Amino acid sequence: MSHANTIDGKAFAAKLRADIGRRVTALKESHGVTPGLSVVLVGEDPASEVYVRNKGKSTLEAGMNSNTYKMSESASHDEVMAKVVELNNDPAVHGILVQLPLPDQVDSDAILNAINPDKDVDGFHTLNVGRLNSGQDAMVPCTPVGCLLMLKEVIGDLTGKNAIVVGRSNIVGKPMAALLLKEHCTVTIAHSRTQDLAGECRRADIVIAAVGRARMVKGDWIKPGATVIDVGINRIEDASKKSGTRLVGDVDFDEAAAVAGAITPVPGGVGPMTIACLLKNTVTAACRQAGVPEPE
Ligand code: NDP
Repeated sequence: MSHANTIDGKAFAAKLRADIGRRVTALKESHGVTPGLSVVLVGEDPASEVYVRNKGKSTLEAGMNSNTYKMSESASHDEVMAKVVELNNDPAVHGILVQLPLPDQVDSDAILNAINPDKDVDGFHTLNVGRLNSGQDAMVPCTPVGCLLMLKEVIGDLTGKNAIVVGRSNIVGKPMAALLLKEHCTVTIAHSRTQDLAGECRRADIVIAAVGRARMVKGDWIKPGATVIDVGINRIEDASKKSGTRLVGDVDFDEAAAVAGAITPVPGGVGPMTIACLLKNTVTAACRQAGVPEPE
């Protein structure tokens, strides 16, 4: 069911990608720089393969260089590390993304912290995390940036808004909270031990759900008129679909859409914005490494 207050993440991302394409052209013409993104994929997780393929396709469409390095599920920690070092040393590579999750034998934290922070387009390096949290220029994780861009488009100035982020992962919840704080929101971070989650959500003008539990956030948790951003991607059974499954978010969309001022759908909300923001970060990284200003 579609609702008048649905935020069209797909259309918004298409606009952003077109804008990035224009800036890539300007960068090539004025400075001879073609931004390059390299993605390292270890193993054969089907969801990761789909994400990586989409990332590669979007990167090429924006006029940038794209390389994907597929490594076997049994690749050793040292082999993955060697690939990161090789990409760090390659001047044609401006952005490096190591697709998570990594197999158990690979130490994810060590790999992420080995990426040159200036090439860390996912923003997961400890230095970028520290920079974000201390208000310095940082590479910021793509999903929270995408959420923030949509919030600003819908609400405008976020100053003084009550925001709740449900989920405290390093990938989404924590950087999202840091960005909202930077925008002068009053931020609550909720998690699996939060008491009265429904009540906490009801006080919020902005609800960000990043949990990974299908339709957990109910309509009566939402304050009338609130803006709801649903990050969750959950596959549930649906006998009416040919595949027998479909994707839903962490928010019960139909219930929440009846109350919210604006809400993102799943799919077609946060997902497309995440990829667009990855391209945006790659352009930023390329400009910084080339020592040239970002094209307007
Ligand atoms: P994690 O599993 O790393 O974190 C989930 C968070 O949710 C944890 O902080 C956990 O709390 C909290 N949580 C779990 N159960 C509850 C509960 N019952 N009540 C309140 N909080 C709860 O997930 P991610 O942050 O990596 O991802 C979250 C979702 O977003 C997933 O569905 C993922 O697929 C999706 N995602 C989507 C992206 C996109 O581009 N659209 C990108 C990245 C993720 P605790 O810390 O206490 O365990």
